[in-house]
Amino acid sequence: MALVVQKYGGSSVADAGCIKRVAQRIVATKKAGNDVVVVVSAMGDTTDELIDLAEQVSPLPPGRELDMLLTAGERISMALLAMAIANLGHEARSFTGSQAGVITDGSHGKARIIDVTPGRIRSALDTGSIAIVAGFQGVSQDSKDITTLGRGGSDTTAVALAAALDADVCEIYTDVDGIFTADPRIVPTSRRVPRISYEEMLEMAACGAKILHLRCVEYARRYGIPIHVRSSFSQKEGTWVVDTIEGTAMEQAIISGVAHDRSEAKITVVGVPDKVGEAAAIFGVLANTEVNIDMIVQNVSAASTGRTDISFTLPEADGQTAMAALNKVKEQVGFESMRYDDQIGKVSLIGAGMRSHPGVTAKFFGAIADAGVNIEMISTSEIRISVIVNQDDVDGAVAAAHAAFDLDSEQVEAVVYGGTGR
Ligand code: ASP
Ligand code: MG
Repeated sequence: MALVVQKYGGSSVADAGCIKRVAQRIVATKKAGNDVVVVVSAMGDTTDELIDLAEQVSPLPPGRELDMLLTAGERISMALLAMAIANLGHEARSFTGSQAGVITDGSHGKARIIDVTPGRIRSALDTGSIAIVAGFQGVSQDSKDITTLGRGGSDTTAVALAAALDADVCEIYTDVDGIFTADPRIVPTSRRVPRISYEEMLEMAACGAKILHLRCVEYARRYGIPIHVRSSFSQKEGTWVVDTIEGTAMEQAIISGVAHDRSEAKITVVGVPDKVGEAAAIFGVLANTEVNIDMIVQNVSAASTGRTDISFTLPEADGQTAMAALNKVKEQVGFESMRYDDQIGKVSLIGAGMRSHPGVTAKFFGAIADAGVNIEMISTSEIRISVIVNQDDVDGAVAAAHAAFDLDSEQVEAVVYGGTGR
């Protein structure tokens, strides 16, 4: 008998019909002799609609209240799913994140899990019940307030529970048949990746592949939880995210995929005096506002002025906060002005085989040039190359890179069932 944790995304529980279908799938897993813990997201677009509603009553809703509101979305789907399972003659019990023992820090909207104490889930399993847990939420250790883990955080709830319960596998159900070599919505000829390492998946998630929450992959790697990403709309085998794919019969692909991200913005700090401590001052200010910086580029200073420009990218959502914080220290740091650009996109090529294969960078840049796309910034890691381009050029650059590395499949194998990517 295995312990299986299954997570169903918003598109898999979008309406009553979907919930009944998912209930059947869960019951089938239970009947096959497994203990089953299910994590659910809010139905369809519920979370977006709740955020909209909040913004209609307040331009800047307090984090505590926004979390209280958003967690209601998952409460609805967990209770409905438990009812649908009961209707099939099986015992199911729903639990909020707090009841399931998901303990977090107090950072509303982006809380981190500190501990998971799933005593009530264990008891439910011991009595033969299926446990249904609300994703993306927890309770703050200090304030005892309800928190959320950030958009897409239900994946992380699922892996955290799988780790705490020592589950055999964590299945993440979505509306595509697994992880593809590029977003099938942009490249219809992208291929399903059968297995991918945590390391590569981390880079993919960090580079905008929204299929898995970044922290879910970090968590899975730390605790060695195998993740199976698959569609709730088909019975097909999806993608296994596992420790390492070396040692398997398969030869390691050089490139595992092309990811893209339209959610970042670029700030250029113009005319920064070229002297010791300037970068530390600028990024110190940003760190204090808890803004995460992604790429950074500093140019050589012009000999005539002794000044330089520093550009960096950050989540668009943090753009105004960062601009305001920097503006406050303009005199003190001594830079001249700032430019803000949210019409950018990031395109990244990811593959562990890059380490041992020369020429990957040249081929990637060549493909982007052939597509007539201008590169604004570049950054690399051992297994990734990313470029910043104009937002309108993202699709073209993704398709060009995908083709250049022979990732296109002969036939269209990617089916987008739900269409929302949840
Ligand atoms: N419902 C939340 C969201 O839309 C959490 C999740 O789906 O993972 O971001
Ligand atoms: Mg998701």
